[in-house]
Amino acid sequence: MRITAIETLYLAGGITVHAGPIQWLWVRIHTEDGLYGLGETYPHPASEEAIIHSRLAPRLLGQDAGRIEGLWASMFDAVSYSGWAGAEMRAISAVDTALWDLKGKALGVPVYELLGGATRDRIRTYNTCYDHISFLDEPVRLAESLLESGIRAMKIWPFDPVAKITGGNYITPEQIREGIRPLRLIKEKFGDSMEVAMEFHGYWNLPCAMQMARACEPYSPMWLEEMLGQDNMAAYRELASSTPLPLTISERLMTAWQYRELLAGGAARVVMPDVAWCGGLTQAKKIADMGAVHYLPVAPHNCGGPVLHAATMHLAAAVPNLYIAESVRRHYADEYTPIVGPLDAPQDGFFDLPRGPGLGLDLLPAVLERGDLVRRRTA
Ligand SMILES: [Mg+2]
Repeated sequence: MRITAIETLYLAGGITVHAGPIQWLWVRIHTEDGLYGLGETYPHPASEEAIIHSRLAPRLLGQDAGRIEGLWASMFDAVSYSGWAGAEMRAISAVDTALWDLKGKALGVPVYELLGGATRDRIRTYNTCYDHISFLDEPVRLAESLLESGIRAMKIWPFDPVAKITGGNYITPEQIREGIRPLRLIKEKFGDSMEVAMEFHGYWNLPCAMQMARACEPYSPMWLEEMLGQDNMAAYRELASSTPLPLTISERLMTAWQYRELLAGGAARVVMPDVAWCGGLTQAKKIADMGAVHYLPVAPHNCGGPVLHAATMHLAAAVPNLYIAESVRRHYADEYTPIVGPLDAPQDGFFDLPRGPGLGLDLLPAVLERGDLVRRRTA
C-alpha cells in the first residue's frame, strides 16, 4: 500500500459556523491501490498546508501507508528540530488521522477496531453550547431544550464577557455573581438532571481563577476547564490545591510528552486531547492510556470539523477510560451537513458506535466543486 500522492483541500471562503467563518484543512493520502484516507486539522490551513507539502510529503511518498507508527516518527523527525508545537503538529495530526482512515478502509473495518476494538456499546456525550439559544440570555431554556433531546450534560463559558472587560487581571464580587448566574439558574432548576462543565478559555490569572473556582463550588460543576493558560504547570498545581473541583487542561496541549508533564504534576483530573491538534489518533490513544495509568478519565475535545468529530467518536468507542465525549448539536445537526452529508445525532445523550470502514465519512462532491476550493497535490 505505497503512498503515491498527498493532497490538501480547504475552502478559502470558509464554512460559516456559530462563531463566524472557519477554515478546516482536509488532507487526503492516496495510495497505488486507488484508495485514499481523509484527515483534518484547523484553523490556519495555509500554514498547515505548507508544512504538509514541504516537510511531511517527502517523508510519506513511496512509503507503506500501513506503517502508521513509523510514519508518525518520521514526520516528527522532519519538524522536531525547528520546533513542532504549532502548525507542524496540526499538520502531522491531519496526516496521521488520514492514515488511520486509509488503513481501516484497506482492511474493511472501522477505525475503532484498529484501536483495540470497542469498549462500550454507545458513547455518552455532552453539548458544547454554541447553540441558537444563548446560555447567557436563556440558560434555563437552553438546558431544557437539551434535556428534551436526551442530553444531560452541557458546557458553557459565562465568565468570558467579564474577561474581555478586565483582561482577566481582576474580577469584582458583582462580576462573579453575574458570571455564575447561568450555572446557578440551571442547577437550581434542574439539579442533578443536568451536569454543567465550566469553560474559561485560559483568560484568567491565578487569584481570579481561585476566586471563581470557590464561587462555583456550591453548584458542583462537572469540571473547570482551562482557567489558566497551559504554559505554567506549577500555577495549575496551586490552583488545583485550592479547590476540590476537578480541573481540566486541555485541547491546546500536544503529544504524549506535553500530557506527561500535565499528569506528572497532578493538576488535571480530566484529560482532554484534541485528535486534530495533539498528533492524531496515534498520540490521542497514547495520551488516553497515560491518563488511565494515572486513574484519570479522558474527555476528548471535539469542537472542530466533521472529520475530527468522526475520529473523536472512534477514539471514544475504543478507550476504556472514557468519561464523556464532547459534541456540538449545531455542528452535527446542521453545519457539517453541506460538507459530509447528514451525521448521526445522539439518542438519549449517547451516540451509536461510529460506522466504517475507516472513519466512515467523506467529503461530498459539492465541496470539491466549490469555486473557492484551494487544492494542492504533491506526488
Ligand atoms: Mg476548551
